[in-house]
Amino acid sequence: MSKHSGALKELRAKGCRLTPQRLLILEAIAEGSAHMGVDEVFRRARESYPYLDVATVYRTLRLFRELGVVTEVGIADRLHFELTDPAARHHHMVCKVCGSAFDLSPYYLEQFRETLSREFGFEPDLGNFTVTGTCVRCGSRKELRGPIGN
Ligand SMILES: [Zn+2]
Ligand SMILES: [Zn+2]
Repeated sequence: MSKHSGALKELRAKGCRLTPQRLLILEAIAEGSAHMGVDEVFRRARESYPYLDVATVYRTLRLFRELGVVTEVGIADRLHFELTDPAARHHHMVCKVCGSAFDLSPYYLEQFRETLSREFGFEPDLGNFTVTGTCVRCGSRKELRGPIGN
């Protein structure tokens, strides 16, 4: 079974017309690296179909996101996409320095959700929760430079 067979099934069930271009774009996301930028999806899909234009990629990605088969991740000021895996739902940690995105298990946010619900009666929508910060690589690089002052 290919990585995106679940997504295909879902698209069909939702009545989405699976044009060759849409299939190519879905394949590009499924087979590419995690968290692909639009340009990356475009480059990969264009290898099989040189007439593809970037506007189609944008439109298709937006459609896929609305249908829930791809997830959008904001990294710096650019959007990235990945195939939605219902069995491995996760949030993201995005490094402000190098722009890498790391998956974060929902497990770590359960306490947070519970606290908001209990203390404030607030039900957070954490579906697209992304936290920004500094990753371990970039953090240790800063330390190597040594503390300022002292
Ligand atoms: Zn980093
Ligand atoms: Zn991810």
